Amino acid sequence: MSDLLERLRGRGWRLTSQRRVVAQVLDGDHVHLTADEVHALAARRLPEISRATVYNTLGELVSLGEVIEVSTAGRAMRYDPNARHPHQHLVCSGCGTVRDVHPNGDPLAVLPAAERFGFTVSDVEVTYRGLCPSCG
Ligand SMILES: [Zn+2]
Ligand SMILES: [Zn+2]
Repeated sequence: MSDLLERLRGRGWRLTSQRRVVAQVLDGDHVHLTADEVHALAARRLPEISRATVYNTLGELVSLGEVIEVSTAGRAMRYDPNARHPHQHLVCSGCGTVRDVHPNGDPLAVLPAAERFGFTVSDVEVTYRGLCPSCG
């Protein structure tokens, strides 16, 4: 589990019913929902929740560093609660399914010093693309 709700409680984030529902919808493994999907799922639990509230809450969670934005080429931004465990993504070019994956070794370390152009490199994102079993 991503323990998103636990983490937010631990930080003292004010958990209104609307924020709680957004966090509950996002919590879990391999969760990479678009904002519209978060809104649709949240509205099942709390019908009055507005799209604007969902968008604002997602923005706050991203600025807190508790949720990461995952961009998949040509598709809507997805929101990933697995922010505390470094991982990369495997994306299906057919249906857009996203899985969290853990390459062997540190992807940051494979960039040689000569290719860093003096940058202090702090982060890396690797996206593996292909077709999932249902689409392949
Ligand atoms: Zn697929
Ligand atoms: Zn992920």
